[in-house]
Amino acid sequence: MKPLTPLLESNREWAEKVSDKNPQFFETLAQQQAPEYLWIGCSDSRVPANEIVGMLPGELFVHRNVSNLVVHSDMNCLSVIQYAVEVLKVKHIMVVGHYGCGGVQAAIETAPHGLIDNWLRHIRNVYNKHKELLSAWADEPQEHLDRLCELNVIEQAYNVCESTIVQEAWARGQEVNVHGWVYGLSDGLLNDLEFNACSQIEVDDQYRVAIRKIELLRDMMKSDEETDANSARSLWGKLNQLFR
Ligand SMILES: [Zn+2]
Repeated sequence: MKPLTPLLESNREWAEKVSDKNPQFFETLAQQQAPEYLWIGCSDSRVPANEIVGMLPGELFVHRNVSNLVVHSDMNCLSVIQYAVEVLKVKHIMVVGHYGCGGVQAAIETAPHGLIDNWLRHIRNVYNKHKELLSAWADEPQEHLDRLCELNVIEQAYNVCESTIVQEAWARGQEVNVHGWVYGLSDGLLNDLEFNACSQIEVDDQYRVAIRKIELLRDMMKSDEETDANSARSLWGKLNQLFR
């Protein structure tokens, strides 16, 4: 078997470049990590966590899986959250979905995909829960998918808040803020869904506000005759202005 020479070479170049800029960089980083953020994102290769928010190694603790799900029986994800909250003491946990997510798309397709369908059932549940709201975009497949990507992030951010780890952290007075974002593959920008909870009493309110915003998006779309399939971004822009 041939080694992956180009990748190993580019690794050496990268390490050299970083060391040239800051000769102590790797030495300092090897001693400890103290990230303030936990990123829970999709495995999609087009959504590289650190790059998107301009962060260096050591600044972001990362967990990624297909369609950024937080499932209460997933020991992998829960272990990451536990380590991040209890050991690293991160102050922020962001669930980051992305528009046009293939996993979200596959979840609502009728064709079977094998084993992964068991994982995607969690998204199908989100779809079933919000079927009525989503029906407003029934004739716009791309928009329909993007709204489901947003709703999925809101539900997963809610799940983070409901985890025993975050619940216990809040109960002992530890600062943990939970956020919901969606990344745009076509413009490289993060859309803040404004689910931002930092205590148990905020969770249900934040959930309702985030869902309400998608309902408003639907209402604005219906009343705006110039709306087309590409204008959800501008609607989100208008919507966010209303809330500021
Ligand atoms: Zn994805």
